[in-house]
Amino acid sequence: MSAQLTVVAPMALEAAAVRRHLDARVLRCGVGPERAARLRADLVSADGPVAVAGFAGATRDDVRCGDVVVATEVRGPDGTRSLPGAAVLAKALRLRGLSVHLAPVASSPEVVKGARRAALGAEGVAAVDMESSWLHPGDDRPFAVLRVALDTPGREVVSPQTLPGALRAYGTLARAVPALAEWAAATGKRRVLLAGPRSFCAGVERAIEIVEQALAKHGPPVYVRKQIVHNVHVVSDLAARGAVFVDELDEVPEGALVVFSAHGVSPQVREQAVQRGLRVIDATCPLVSKVHAEARRFAAAGKTIFLIGHAGHEEVEGTTGHAPQAIRLIERPEDIAGVEVDDPDKVAFLTQTTLSVDEAYSIAGALRERYPALTGPSSDDICYATQNRQDAVKAVARASDAVLVVGSRNSSNSCRLVEVVQGEGTPAYLIDDEADIDPLWLIGAHTLGVTAGASAPESLVQRVVDALAGLGPIEVAEHTTTTESIRFNLPKEVR
Ligand code: SF4
Repeated sequence: MSAQLTVVAPMALEAAAVRRHLDARVLRCGVGPERAARLRADLVSADGPVAVAGFAGATRDDVRCGDVVVATEVRGPDGTRSLPGAAVLAKALRLRGLSVHLAPVASSPEVVKGARRAALGAEGVAAVDMESSWLHPGDDRPFAVLRVALDTPGREVVSPQTLPGALRAYGTLARAVPALAEWAAATGKRRVLLAGPRSFCAGVERAIEIVEQALAKHGPPVYVRKQIVHNVHVVSDLAARGAVFVDELDEVPEGALVVFSAHGVSPQVREQAVQRGLRVIDATCPLVSKVHAEARRFAAAGKTIFLIGHAGHEEVEGTTGHAPQAIRLIERPEDIAGVEVDDPDKVAFLTQTTLSVDEAYSIAGALRERYPALTGPSSDDICYATQNRQDAVKAVARASDAVLVVGSRNSSNSCRLVEVVQGEGTPAYLIDDEADIDPLWLIGAHTLGVTAGASAPESLVQRVVDALAGLGPIEVAEHTTTTESIRFNLPKEVR
């Protein structure tokens, strides 16, 4: 897919480490901007990805001798160049067990020490070199900078510890450079198909807005029982703004304000909140509340309820609490035979809202075969957003060589998107963000599908697209199967 990789190493020792451990065109440029600028003409006239590999001076205390720095941008006297594909190289390095910092690298025409070094570190720069900025071969070419820290703020380049430090840095460089081959193999021209709809649903938007409004109206801390939605970025962002996430209500001080997550709670949790004198704002998705109401209705009619869902999921725990005597959990068709029912003519089923549509229908079908009197909910419990995202990604999977699903591991609907893609015979990978992309997944993926679970922000999709653009020219196309306009009202406490 990609043309030959060229690796530039400034010094002989660095070039030797690269040649020994990597099958690539290796050029030695020498130390300093003039030599680097002279070699750049060679790079511009050739094709293919270019990487700079060698040692550098660390500028921050958290970067130790022997750590790897992968540049997210290169800052030089002539300006800053962004390197959005850096996260993919960093992933390959981390998979090799290396300690990796994904951060800006500064290029300086002279050796940087003391106060200047500290100032760069304070600006977020992780390492400083004397060549990278002058080696960039042009905007359309994938370019990576991989530097191993040799000297550090506490250990200047000429010191008694330089030799052991150099040996450690050489060893790391030797271990690191094979990752450049994986990065280079992932580069090239590609088409990116964005599934639509993707990302936030109405229930997730409402839940996040409830916490934001609660913070704005009441100020921090605002306690939230469980993750407000299942996404690490959403949770860490709200935590940084003053939300305090707890597993159970006994962690919330008496009288404090607490928000119930979008997945819903059982009546027992509500009762506990009353007993503790907590002020409650309920962010349960209205579509989950609908399932709770159905569970109570079926139980009141004396029916045994088969709840199709996943054990341990918060939504399932919450729903079960609304009819604990009546509900029997069914995770897979094999579970049906083992369930005892009082009256086979008085049975009903409900489903978790975020299941695989096909799987839920197949289990419901198996239940109906065994219990012909089975009744179901008045309308599908699998919510519109789950259905729409699965339909959209199925269409994208059929046209793609692989699909990236943005979402967290504990996000049920994101995991189901992965399964739906795999069901189409297309490889699918669940990623929290671009830093999770293994370059090996992209090799041969000329058309790459991208979607996001209902709890994953659209901004993460954009970050993934930017990272892919850093690996070569991309053509981005929206593949929309339907559009959504559903909005849920906020509860009165935050209106
Ligand atoms: S996925 Fe569906 S049920 Fe879950 S929060 Fe979104 S709209 Fe509500």
